[in-house]
Amino acid sequence: MTAPALEIEGLSYGYGRGFALDDVSFRVNQGEFTALLGPNGAGKTTLFSLITRLFEAPRGAIKVCGITMRDHPTKALARMGVVFQQPTLDLDLTVRQNLHYFAALHGIARRDASIRIGEALERLDMAERDGEKVRQLNGGHRRRVELARALLHKPDLLVLDEPTVGLDVPARRGIVEHVHELCRTQGMAVLWATHLIDEVHADDRVVVIHKGRILADGSVTDVNRTNASANLTQTFHRLINQV
Ligand code: ATP
Repeated sequence: MTAPALEIEGLSYGYGRGFALDDVSFRVNQGEFTALLGPNGAGKTTLFSLITRLFEAPRGAIKVCGITMRDHPTKALARMGVVFQQPTLDLDLTVRQNLHYFAALHGIARRDASIRIGEALERLDMAERDGEKVRQLNGGHRRRVELARALLHKPDLLVLDEPTVGLDVPARRGIVEHVHELCRTQGMAVLWATHLIDEVHADDRVVVIHKGRILADGSVTDVNRTNASANLTQTFHRLINQV
C-alpha cells in the first residue's frame, strides 16, 4: 500500500502562552485535494511553518510520503512543493532567471531545467512573460510563477498557504482552478490553506481548523451531513461558533 502524501500526528505548538496548535492530526492522501479551512488566527500558517520545517514541533510527527520529517528532513522536503503566503521571488530577476535559480538549488541540470520551465510556463499561460522582471508582473502573474517554481522538481505533494491572498477575483479563480486541475490530471496531492469557502470544491476533502484544533475532517458531503448542514458555509459557521 502507498503511504499517504502527508501524515500529521499529534502536532502541538505554542509561541509562548497557550497553544497555536493543539494536538493536530490529519492526512492528505495521494491524488487528493485537501482544503485546510480556518478563519484568521486559526493556526494555518503555524501548521505550514512546521510542515515546511521553518519551525520544529516539540510534540507530534510529520511524515511526507512515509518519510519522517524529524529523521530525514532533506528527503521529506524534496518530495514537497511549497507556495508560502508571502511571495518569495526575486523582483529584480526575470521570471526565467527565478525559475533557473530554484532548479539549480534542486540539482536539476540546466538543459532539463530549461525544458521543465518552458513546459510549466506554457501550462500556466505565462510563456510570453518569461523574459520580464518579476517586478513588472501583477500579483496574479507572480503567483503563477511561484506555482511553476513549486512544481519544477516534480513533487508528490503541493502545499500552499493562502496562495490567493491579495488577488482579484479572476486571478484568484485562475489559481484555484489550475491547482484543482493538477490534482485531477496528474494525481498531485494538495494541501491548500484558506479562509475562503468558495475556494473549496464539492469533491474536495476538507479539514476545518479553529483556535489550533481540528473541528472536522472528511469529504465536503460527509462533513455537511455530520453537522446537519445544507452547505459548507453553514457547516463552517456552525463549527467555529461552537468553540
Ligand atoms: P491568518 O489567516 O491570519 O494567516 P492563520 O490561520 O494562519 O491566520 P496563525 O498565523 O498560524 O493563523 O496564528 C495562530 C495563532 O498564533 C494566532 O493566535 C496568532 O496570533 C498566533 N501567532 C502567530 N504567529 C505568532 C508569533 N510569531 N508570535 C506570537 N503569536 C503568534
